[in-house]
Amino acid sequence: MSKKKKYVYLFANGKAEGKGTWKELLGGKGAGLAEMTSLKIPVPAGFTLTTEVCTEYYKNRQNYPAGLKDQVKKALAAVENAMGAKFGDPAKPLLLSVRSGARTSMPGMMETVLNIGLTTKTIPGMIARSSNERFVYDAYRRLIMMYADVVMEKAAGVEVEEDHGIRHQLEAELDKIKKAKGYKVDTDLTARDLKKLVDIFKKKVQKVLGRPFPDDPMAQLWGGIGAVFQSWNGKRAVSYRRIEGIPEAWGTAVNVQSMVFGNTGSRSGTGVAFTRNPATGEHVFFGEYLMNAQGEDVVAGIRTPQPINKKQKGNSPLQSLEEEAPEVYKALVKIQKRLDTHYKDMQDLEFTIEDGKLWMLQTRSGKRNGTAAIRIAVEMVKEKLIPRKTALMRVAPHQLDELLHPMLDPEAEKTTKPLAKGLPAGPGGAIGQIVFTADDAEAWAKAGKQVILVRNETSPEDVHGMHAAEAILTAKGGMTSHAALVARGWGKCCIVGCGALDIHLKSRKVVVDGLTLREGDWITLNGTRGLVYRGKINLLSSDPEKNLYYKTLMKWADQVRKLGVRTNADTPEDAALARTFGAEGIGLCRTEHMFFGPERIRAIREMIVAETQEKRRKAVMKLLPYQRKDFTGILKAMAGLPVTIRTLDPPLHEFVTLDKAQAKELAKDLGISVNKLTTRIAQLHELNPMLGHRGCRLGITYPEVTEMQARAIFEAAANLTKKGVKVYPEVMIPLVGSPSELAHQRAIVEKVAEEVARKIGKFRYQIGTMIEVPRACVVADKIAESAEFFSFGTNDLTQTAFGFSRDDIGSFLPGYLDEKILPDDPFQSLDQEGVGELVAMGVRKGRKTRKNLKIGICGEHGGDPQSVEFCHRVGLNYVSCSPFRVPIARLAAAQAALRK
Ligand code: PEP
Ligand code: MG
Repeated sequence: MSKKKKYVYLFANGKAEGKGTWKELLGGKGAGLAEMTSLKIPVPAGFTLTTEVCTEYYKNRQNYPAGLKDQVKKALAAVENAMGAKFGDPAKPLLLSVRSGARTSMPGMMETVLNIGLTTKTIPGMIARSSNERFVYDAYRRLIMMYADVVMEKAAGVEVEEDHGIRHQLEAELDKIKKAKGYKVDTDLTARDLKKLVDIFKKKVQKVLGRPFPDDPMAQLWGGIGAVFQSWNGKRAVSYRRIEGIPEAWGTAVNVQSMVFGNTGSRSGTGVAFTRNPATGEHVFFGEYLMNAQGEDVVAGIRTPQPINKKQKGNSPLQSLEEEAPEVYKALVKIQKRLDTHYKDMQDLEFTIEDGKLWMLQTRSGKRNGTAAIRIAVEMVKEKLIPRKTALMRVAPHQLDELLHPMLDPEAEKTTKPLAKGLPAGPGGAIGQIVFTADDAEAWAKAGKQVILVRNETSPEDVHGMHAAEAILTAKGGMTSHAALVARGWGKCCIVGCGALDIHLKSRKVVVDGLTLREGDWITLNGTRGLVYRGKINLLSSDPEKNLYYKTLMKWADQVRKLGVRTNADTPEDAALARTFGAEGIGLCRTEHMFFGPERIRAIREMIVAETQEKRRKAVMKLLPYQRKDFTGILKAMAGLPVTIRTLDPPLHEFVTLDKAQAKELAKDLGISVNKLTTRIAQLHELNPMLGHRGCRLGITYPEVTEMQARAIFEAAANLTKKGVKVYPEVMIPLVGSPSELAHQRAIVEKVAEEVARKIGKFRYQIGTMIEVPRACVVADKIAESAEFFSFGTNDLTQTAFGFSRDDIGSFLPGYLDEKILPDDPFQSLDQEGVGELVAMGVRKGRKTRKNLKIGICGEHGGDPQSVEFCHRVGLNYVSCSPFRVPIARLAAAQAALRK
């Protein structure tokens, strides 16, 4: 380790050693302070310990790098010089704040210590300097509380029960005094009260933590610095990093800065502000402040903060800063405008007013929701601050979700503790009464009730109830489980794999963490985050088509993207909806969902039990008119655009999950004995149905099924073509692993096409295949001989490449993610180095045989931004995803094109 390495960057007197762009080294806050200082904006002098100190500290078993102490000493001397005060000096003491600052903001996740440097020696000097004894003791009691909590307890790793930490105990002492004196607010405490309180605090700290509160300023400073570095690996920060995907290796910087005080009296104050509204994106200065307060008071919610200006104040009786301190407000407005244009992005500001003088303590790119992100990006282009390319890169694709689904009121959510957490399978929010069966869901919904279907897992038999429900919550299953796929397709809120649910179907109750909820009880789901709440939480609704900013951004996205975006849809309604979201065709129409209507399921069951091919054909052909109608509807809804229709895929047993009574009824209906029926059902039983008799294997065993489906597709296409409707059906054969499987099915489909063309008239069509087992990737060159297109079924390809069952991954995935064995759920975000290699191989080999082979993806990954970028890189022609993810894929595809 070189002693010369620079670990500490000074900002003082209008000069900064660091720059605003050095976020990686200085953290967001440190970079902002350096930049503001260089811009001659009033910033209290200070210095930043770099993020490299943090990484080296952890690398070296929590020891600081050599040379750091000296560099801090020097920087401190420069700060003392700039501020005309000295740290630890009895006559003119300087006080410091110590704050964290990672590269991207992690609000509230790490620690801060204020008022460092107050000791029994410096207190008299501070009193003389401020002529305000009360203020000094107030600052001192805050320091003791913060320091004891953050440095002596949390950073020292002292384990305490919830709500029994030192902070709570000290707060109880404060309350005791307030109660005894009949005070309502903290500001009622007099200097004498605070002096007494400080003594009580010190004694309590000694008693509870077994160590005295340090009376040496340097000990306080290094204690504070150490605590901030420790907090990088604190529980909150670690979970936040995991949720936000922030790498552990980044580390946090530490900012040591001269204190300025918002609590010296009525001409002082402190606040937080945004250069634009972070909830709506509106270009108005927005913020809150409190007079005679320190920063923590604004965020802690003890006192109600006041609005920053008259516009924001509306009808509120509270005074605004614009009215209360017009000169300061004017200065603040000027600074915020300058920062907004300088950074060309919405800024999150912190400021303090000390005896009428304004100081800026922070500027950083502000957190915003999806609605605001879009509006700000688009308006900044119109204001000529940023080019379109930057605007497109500024909005995270998943933020579009918020515009497409109703969502929980984030304010209400903040104050409610979730009951349980599962996988966020279908985004958005939903409120409903618990029901435990699909039939109940349907019946209750028919009776006008709002329900949430709570199941261990769902099956295609449940679709009616799933459709009727506001949302679906399952205890088992992963992100590509049945419930997840179906819900996402409908844009329905859905949480799966919520392991904390102990469902007692018979007694119609679910036990969560010791709490029993019964049928009819209200719950609220946040499907975007996977959180389950008891009771009702307010929902905010959405209508993206009315949002002009969204429409503009999407138009720009479409102009730059190279990837096509199609949708996975099984009904004309879904197809039409997806078109409004910008889908350019259907990439996957799963035909099995069409078989669950009462007449259809009967026909398919009849086919399943048929003993001869002739009987089977007769039964299958009963489905022809239904299927023809389905395909006519879908092809019409997608007129002018391609529609990929997949032949039957799931194992047949899914169509005959019957209870005793149902079996009896069906046997009677089909004119066979119950025994015969149950024997046949037993024959269908497979140990690994997802690897069993499904996909093209069905069409090979039962060619009449493929024939019927091809006929239905082509008759629909031929009739529509005759009427002048432009239709482009693409017949897709699933789960092909050998070229001969595809050749077999292709022959059937082609024969039907010829017959239909002869009978009704000519139409356009293509035949292709899904690539969803590893072998298909390896022999893709041979498969391409019989395929005009490939569509990667990455759900099955992930399942077969890893050997992970897509339905059972829930039992071990959480452990895998915790142990970092896998970075993400591979069913959600494509495993690029493994499954992705197979995809790349399939593309390369396929195009070797057929240069213009059209290639897409229709697994769930088609709507995942990272996977979309991968698809762009390996040269796919399109991605296909559920309707509600179409806009996300469009934006992700644009970003992929721009990143190149
Ligand atoms: C796939 O396997 O990726 C796919 C789209 O098909 P399914 O999910 O219906 O098996
Ligand atoms: Mg599949």
